[in-house]
Amino acid sequence: MTEPDTTPRGAAAPDHEFIVVGTGVCGIYQLYQLLRIGADVVALDAHADLGGTWFKNRYPGCRFDSESYTYGYSFSDELLQEWNWSENFAAQPETLRYLNHVADKFGLREHMVFNTRVSAARFDDEAGLWRLKVDDGRVLTCRFLLTAVGLLSIPTPPRIPGMDSFRGVSMHTYDWPDERLDLTGQRVAVIGAGASGIQVIASIADKVESLTVLQRRPNWAAPLNNSPISEDEMAKIKASYEEIFARCDETPGGFVHGPDRRKFAEATPEERRELWEKLYRAPGFGIWLGNLRDVLTDETANEAFSAFVAEKIRERVKDPRTAELLIPKDHGFGVQRVPLETNYYEAFNRDNVELVSLSETPIEEITPSGLRTTDREYEFDVIVYATGFDAITGAYDHIDIVGRDGLRLKDAWADGPVTYLGIQVVGFPNLLMLAGVHTASVATNAPRAIEAEVNWITQLIEHMRAHAYTRIETTEEAQGWWTARIKELYGRLLLRKARSWFTGYNANVAGHDRTRYLLYVGGAPRYRTALEEVSENGYEGFVLS
Ligand code: NAP
Repeated sequence: MTEPDTTPRGAAAPDHEFIVVGTGVCGIYQLYQLLRIGADVVALDAHADLGGTWFKNRYPGCRFDSESYTYGYSFSDELLQEWNWSENFAAQPETLRYLNHVADKFGLREHMVFNTRVSAARFDDEAGLWRLKVDDGRVLTCRFLLTAVGLLSIPTPPRIPGMDSFRGVSMHTYDWPDERLDLTGQRVAVIGAGASGIQVIASIADKVESLTVLQRRPNWAAPLNNSPISEDEMAKIKASYEEIFARCDETPGGFVHGPDRRKFAEATPEERRELWEKLYRAPGFGIWLGNLRDVLTDETANEAFSAFVAEKIRERVKDPRTAELLIPKDHGFGVQRVPLETNYYEAFNRDNVELVSLSETPIEEITPSGLRTTDREYEFDVIVYATGFDAITGAYDHIDIVGRDGLRLKDAWADGPVTYLGIQVVGFPNLLMLAGVHTASVATNAPRAIEAEVNWITQLIEHMRAHAYTRIETTEEAQGWWTARIKELYGRLLLRKARSWFTGYNANVAGHDRTRYLLYVGGAPRYRTALEEVSENGYEGFVLS
């Protein structure tokens, strides 16, 4: 890679006071807030239009697992009252329409620049500004760099020999061409059975000629129980937004679902069964986040609940061997992020759907006409890689970020990310990271946590302006404290044992085949309290100058 022309040029006015990188849910809201306070800001996006994850993920079946009416922005009553959600868990096109509506309504689009991928960012200490190199070679400068680069925005296809030789159509779920890809009559393979794979599989099983699901490890999935929202229901939702958001604010996950008050041992077997049956039939993440309070922390409780869900899978999948292959044996329910599904297990009862266990018969090679496992050859017209993302740190690793004294962010994070509040890293003045590493947005209903964090950052910026500060950098002490806290919080949850993106694990990325502590798992309310304490104590842990 050629080095960007980002050599220090002495004190100069930057092109913009603020550059926001990313125009997804987070970038849109940060842009709105900065414009509201009269800042000079531009938002850049690598893609052809706004929407981030909702612009890119166009695969069949892609939809919310958050209740739609808890996912929208809460900052404008007018917006809340004019927007109608059609389903309790809206599909991707509707969410993308919503984000476009927000951008148009608040005049944000004219402050966005698309098809502009930031490839490098270097802090010029002398001039006190960031120099950004974009793909076409231009260099843009700003005083403050705000990254809203997404949690799951770097797709990771597998590394299987022969992938380039395949003559049919192949793509990662994130790079789905568009609606024009007609799968009718096609022989399709889906590799991967996470949330994306599960949505694709359930949605195309009855449309394709044949569907071969190549699964390495199964996930615990549970019914989404989606339904349309009638006009009357929408009117009721509009009348109760205040209570809905207040409820989201008090739950650890930022959803309407909060844990049952009882621990596993405090409920009788009959009471547990009654609760679990009810949760299995209820919409959304209640089954994960509204369960007995120690199901995600206590092995005995977790095993008992996992056995309940395994029983449900056996009831839904007719072939006992297939059912067993779909039941995770290496981790308990909810330890990895739970995919929510509609008719996923029933798809395996169809004659045109086959499940191949890659743990028994791994793929040896992708061939021009399909693929070969250790067991046999398969022929396909389409191969879908539903193999996940280089989560959270991936988007940062794809920008060559160099702070003061030539320190590269990649090197600072070589042994796992270090941050203060997930917002700053020592050595990177005026870089404010939004809704990323070590923040609450990752493990929760993202927009709720995003709004809280962006509001806090905006107040910080107003505070700096009021005191004519132009520089902010965290301290080693503050960073060490927060990073240790992140690790300690993982220790309290069974998810510390997961081998998934929740623990930074991704064997498709060199160096990520080990546990990394990426998430703030203390819950959204505690994260907000931490932020409030810091600002109330005069932005303790930051040096403002
Ligand atoms: P994921 O959960 O990381 O799942 C990736 C899948 O690919 C796993 O089954 C994994 O198997 C498999 N895989 C990876 N590399 C492989 C290889 N080399 N060979 C064979 N299999 C391989 O990724 P995702 O499904 O894209 O979901 C990521 C996150 O996106 C979710 O957890 C969720 O937060 C979000 N999401 C949300 C929704 C929604 O409903 N709103 C929908 C989709 C995604 P192993 O487990 O064996 O590694």
